[in-house]
Amino acid sequence: MPIGRVRLPSGETVPALGQGTWKMGDSARRRGDEIRALRLGLDLGMTLIDTAEMYGDGGAEDMVGEAIAGRRDEVVLVSKVWPHNASRSGAIAACERSLKRLGTDRIDLYLLHWPSNHPLSETVTAFEALRRDGKVRHWGVSNFDVADMEGVLAAGGSNVAANQVLYNLTRRGVEFDLFPWLAERHVPIMAYSPVEQGRLARNAALERIAKAHGATAAQIALAFTLLRSDVISIPKATSLEHVRENAAAADIVLSDTDRQALDAAFPPPRRKHGLEMI
Ligand code: NAP
Repeated sequence: MPIGRVRLPSGETVPALGQGTWKMGDSARRRGDEIRALRLGLDLGMTLIDTAEMYGDGGAEDMVGEAIAGRRDEVVLVSKVWPHNASRSGAIAACERSLKRLGTDRIDLYLLHWPSNHPLSETVTAFEALRRDGKVRHWGVSNFDVADMEGVLAAGGSNVAANQVLYNLTRRGVEFDLFPWLAERHVPIMAYSPVEQGRLARNAALERIAKAHGATAAQIALAFTLLRSDVISIPKATSLEHVRENAAAADIVLSDTDRQALDAAFPPPRRKHGLEMI
């Protein structure tokens, strides 16, 4: 089954399952394995790659640049500006450094990594300038709760195209109010740490459900994040076996019984929780 697509506010669609790169790009010894993993992921349809200037202090973007060299047009490239760089001129300079490391002339989705001390109106102005210049095709935010999102709109940021937040079975608080707020405004969600940094791959409740599907616990965790049509899930994997498993998670169809078992093991929120971050 091909990987599903998620609609951005512009109407353009992107893959619902992509690849993360945190903790990549900081070791010369692992670089070859990381590049092979990302390229295999591209071959398997996980053509959205999420990175950030923070990861490996630029090393992840540099490694991603090598992984996608010659294949740029296949890729939906997401990167993030460090909050301390998110002033009007700082965000533009940071984006230009990222473009250089990534070896490309455009970033498809450029995010503010988490709320910054710089006024949001400055960041929005910089993002809009980058968009007008074609250096960024869309922009968005990350780790923004409902009140922060209201602030984006108040700062003139009605073009916000995504909010990337921590979301997995053990981090469902966002389902209470943030997800409905975003859905009402057609702003898609990027789910980071969808296998809880590997911890959900060893979860007994998930292993039980996985067995019936001939799948792994990690695949069930990913299939859960893909249930919503507005979520883009971005697992990170350096192991080729993990990359294959993650791509195949898009084929898993969770039944009503599976969903009830997931809700019983990982109850959905009944009240507002502050946004969690990793
Ligand atoms: P994650 O994707 O939940 O977990 C990654 C870990 O799980 C790695 O140790 C990986 O191992 C392992 N893994 C992956 N697939 C597996 C599978 N099928 N079976 C068993 N283990 C598996 O955690 P994450 O890296 O924190 O989050 C994903 C991405 O989201 C990041 O890489 C980054 O791009 C983004 N992110 C963004 C923020 C933000 O503030 N915006 C914060 C955190 C993360 P191997 O690598 O050994 O294969």
